[in-house]
Amino acid sequence: MSDVSLPVDLRSDTLTKPTPAMRRAMSSALVGDDMYQEDPTVRALEEEAAALLGFEAGLFCVSGTMANEIAIAVWTRPGQEVLVEERGHPVDYELAGMAALSGVMPRLVPSHRGVMQPADVQAAIRRSPDHIAHSGLIIVENTHNMWGGTVIPAAQSAELVAVARQNHLPIHLDGARLWNAAEATGVGVEILAAGYSSVMVSLSKGLGAPVGSILTGSRPFIREARRIRKRFGGGWRQAGILAAAARVALQETPPLLGLDHSRARELAAAAAAAGFRIDPMQVETNIVMVGTDPGRGKHLHAALKTKGILCLLTAPDEVRMVTYRDLDENDIQRACQAINSCGRA
Ligand SMILES: *Cc1c(COP(=O)(O)O)cnc(C)c1O
Repeated sequence: MSDVSLPVDLRSDTLTKPTPAMRRAMSSALVGDDMYQEDPTVRALEEEAAALLGFEAGLFCVSGTMANEIAIAVWTRPGQEVLVEERGHPVDYELAGMAALSGVMPRLVPSHRGVMQPADVQAAIRRSPDHIAHSGLIIVENTHNMWGGTVIPAAQSAELVAVARQNHLPIHLDGARLWNAAEATGVGVEILAAGYSSVMVSLSKGLGAPVGSILTGSRPFIREARRIRKRFGGGWRQAGILAAAARVALQETPPLLGLDHSRARELAAAAAAAGFRIDPMQVETNIVMVGTDPGRGKHLHAALKTKGILCLLTAPDEVRMVTYRDLDENDIQRACQAINSCGRA
């Protein structure tokens, strides 16, 4: 039962807390030193996650950012360009990591609400003449966070993979919310991950594990990724404590994601009814981007806060709300009422 004296926190699906089953698994986890690859729980998690995604091997990383940056470091050489969607996580929220850590530049690709068109990706690929930087990697984000959790369906995903293959370029999938995409499209994560050179999935977002992401790929890719992880300071020891919770998350949470999605549509419907710029039909997963009049985002953000609803200001005219497992029906009703009372009418 939710406590009405506490705010309803819609800032992110990273706010999930470990479930009782996760805490039990943590307390009894077998552990060892993962730098020697002797933590049985980490190894089990890596193997299970890789198998679910259809890859040979996996690497448990402290965060999605670290896993993305490791992938960039493995696939590119300094001086190359990385093709990434304009509002993609690696360009907006990784602190210029690709430049600082790998010596590469992003080349921004436009999209239709987060879904890049194959022709636009093809047009952005550069490999001649010799006086320009060459493309080294393509990154795809599914679901797309800043475009409101939009899904890249399997057919479009396969087209992007085909462009990479035709151009002999590696293609990395930022699948922080790949299970949300699978829930929304009704196809398995292994279908949405098919053909990519490497895939990152977050365990600490909607899946609800306290910490961690998985990077998957071929055995040689993961061997190199493990070395880079150490260089980035991410080699860890008895991480089985965390992997134990993540293994439970992989079992427990995917069947529950549909509820997050229907609650996101409820929030979107409330926002649309209150006169904000949003099409509830476009809310496919657990992220709701509410558009305001120019410059009014901070006013909506502040007004909701005074009513006990926390959200994220993502642009001068946009706030983001995210649903996740720890919310209940009462929280959603409180949020809808608050949105309604902040309406523009
Ligand atoms: C959250 C997120 C990441 C990074 O994950 P962290 O664990 O927060 O570093 C990467 N990509 C996308 C699309 C995300 O939403």
